[in-house]
Formats: sequence, structure tokens, C-alpha cells
Amino acid sequence: MGDAATAEFADVVRATLADPRGWAGAGFRMAEDATAGLVVVLAEGDEVDRLCFPYRTGGRFSCQNGPVVAINADRWRVATAQWTGDLATYRQMLVNHEVGHLLGQHHPPDPQCPAPGRPAPVMAQQSTELDGCLPNPWPLPDELAAAARHEEPLAPPYQP
Ligand SMILES: [Zn+2]
Repeated sequence: MGDAATAEFADVVRATLADPRGWAGAGFRMAEDATAGLVVVLAEGDEVDRLCFPYRTGGRFSCQNGPVVAINADRWRVATAQWTGDLATYRQMLVNHEVGHLLGQHHPPDPQCPAPGRPAPVMAQQSTELDGCLPNPWPLPDELAAAARHEEPLAPPYQP
């Protein structure tokens, strides 16, 4: 690691999590602390696979596994063929999606795209398929409302 694409990782994470359009809009505040139990890391595929086990990330996917969000560096560098937005927006989506899992949020029920032409829910698996939805890096109003209700535990463990 340590190329130009990954050098700005911490700045992007910081800015994304502080953005009022993000989970901050559900009342969460990003605070950095070297002793924090929750971590967001960027790693190459083999390390992501290790951090994410028993999730199967196959060298390609990112995950949230307990207190760890592990983001795949290849995806960070180039996004995916299915993504129709730009790379900066993809990175914001990745951070908000995986941190959304950290806040207890789940993938929406199928169809994950509510209607073609609408913004995709941030918790939809946009890296894999947009299904006609518009690429969207920010939680939708109902996603913010769900997170603000705090019905799910933070940092959920592996869920088969
Ligand atoms: Zn997910």
C-alpha cells in the first residue's frame, strides 16, 4: 500500500463521516481516538479476507466484521464496472456503506433499487449492481431515520 490512490484514504474517511449528508445526519459524531475500539482500515485483498473472515470477501469485497471496517484497496483505486458515478463518489459510498453496517444497518430487502432512476439506498450493494438506480453515496432520509432510532447494536458480529 502507499500509492497515490490510497494516500488520501484517511482524509476521505474523515470528510465523509463528518459530512452532514452522511450518518452525522442521524446524530452520529465522528471522533478520532487512538484507543477507540472501532477501526476503519484500507487493505489489500488478502488482508481484507483475513480481517473479514468468516465473511467471504474473495480478495474483492469490503466488509464490516465486528469492530472492524475493512475496505478493499483495489476497489478504492478503481471502483467497479457496475458503478456509473465517479471515483470520488464511489469512495464516499464505500465508507458510508461499510460504516452503515458498523452502525447496525443492513442491506435493504430485494429489490434493493426501489425504482429505476431513483437514488440507490446507501445500504444497497451498489458495487455489485445498481439495477437502474442512480449511484448514491449518502444515506437516504429513511436510512438516516432508521439509524437514528438505534434499534440495532453497534459493531454487529458476523451474521451468516
Ligand atoms: Zn454491505
